[in-house]
Amino acid sequence: MPPSSSIPIFLIRQKEYKSWLKKQPPQWTQWAAANHFAATPASWCLLPDETGRISAVAVGVGDRIDRWALAELPGRLPEGNYRLEKEVDGDTADALMLGWLMGSYRFARYTKQKKLPTLHPPKGCNMRQVHTMSDAITQARDLINTPANDMGPQELADACRRIAEHHAAEYREIVGEALLKENYPAIFEVGKASTRLPRLIDMRWGDKRHPKVTLVGKGVCFDSGGLDIKSSSGMRLMKKDMGGAACVLALARMLMDAKVKIRLRVLIPAVENSIAGNAYRPLDVIRTRKGLNVEIGNTDAEGRIILCDALCEADSEKPALLIDCATLTGGARVAVGTEIAALFTPDDALAADMIRHGNTQDDPLWRLPLWEGYRDMLKSPIADINSAPDSTYASAITAALYLKEFVCETKAWAHIDMMAWNLKARPGRPIGGEAMAARALFSYIIDRF
Ligand SMILES: [Zn+2]
Repeated sequence: MPPSSSIPIFLIRQKEYKSWLKKQPPQWTQWAAANHFAATPASWCLLPDETGRISAVAVGVGDRIDRWALAELPGRLPEGNYRLEKEVDGDTADALMLGWLMGSYRFARYTKQKKLPTLHPPKGCNMRQVHTMSDAITQARDLINTPANDMGPQELADACRRIAEHHAAEYREIVGEALLKENYPAIFEVGKASTRLPRLIDMRWGDKRHPKVTLVGKGVCFDSGGLDIKSSSGMRLMKKDMGGAACVLALARMLMDAKVKIRLRVLIPAVENSIAGNAYRPLDVIRTRKGLNVEIGNTDAEGRIILCDALCEADSEKPALLIDCATLTGGARVAVGTEIAALFTPDDALAADMIRHGNTQDDPLWRLPLWEGYRDMLKSPIADINSAPDSTYASAITAALYLKEFVCETKAWAHIDMMAWNLKARPGRPIGGEAMAARALFSYIIDRF
């Protein structure tokens, strides 16, 4: 039972607003009218008692209650305890509670934040799962929001190690020149110019007899572009270039907490794409784990170079499902904007299922083609493949086609090219790092396994 001192929140369908209002005290009727409140979806209004204190909150909703209906309120309501005035069904309770918690996120590492209002868990809400998801999303946002001076390859690895310890997962790291000894030459090449050593993070969890699910996340802790240096505006957000790794970690946490019957492996190549005398150069030819020689088209297309070694290792185990997440190309942002993650997969059924889960979770994915007709753009005159064509056309597709060269044995492979950052604030999604696709993929995986 919520404490009786908590303030009730009324969810009011717009078409039922007039009949609802008739039954309310006159000070509410007058106050709501004075504030032009009409219960349109996504609008809300504080309602006073006779002494001027807040006695309730009215929130307008549509016929279907939107999962973000309460998500703006933590930042807007005065501090205090709130509760839903009426019960909702279990799924809606989960969605509203998660929306509230996602809307309560503040990046508090460097500055004190004010205390926020709290919502008493609605009846029927699966608080264990909601908290698990909220905590995972919070950590991913924190990792992405942390500036690169405090979030290098080592710090990203430390975060993974703590997650592994918490879930009794096996944890391994291959660091610096050991990458060469263990045949991850491409990861080493990209990260070698930084004083912060490149590494491959490798975490395994779950019963070996369960189906293998492998997640690969791009962990470029800062991307200067390398010798093909970025402009100042292009470099500004590049602390977020480990967003794929952060999203994969959020997803892994959700899966382990839910004790899904899978054998999970997480591979994160973590590097800083830096500039120094020993930096890799445009037109260098580098060897990859697979044995393919790659001619470097542009040192700023570093994500696919580190991912191809990790994908090659992942593919060698023929997992039942292989997903990689990466803030890979500006081309994907041009194609679908910053609020949708671009999905590439050769598997039509997999694409349809993932997109459906993305839609139900309001964590949208949109499929782009792995169009073989563009494969010749990756031809190199002197090596097996070129990493980044000269042309800016279809750049998200050619990046995905490059990765596809390293996934040969695995049937169910999905590559997700994402922003991992909210450029504008929306309810539940403040400006800054975002665990894009994590809720969609979690929903898909627990449904499938
Ligand atoms: Zn780059």
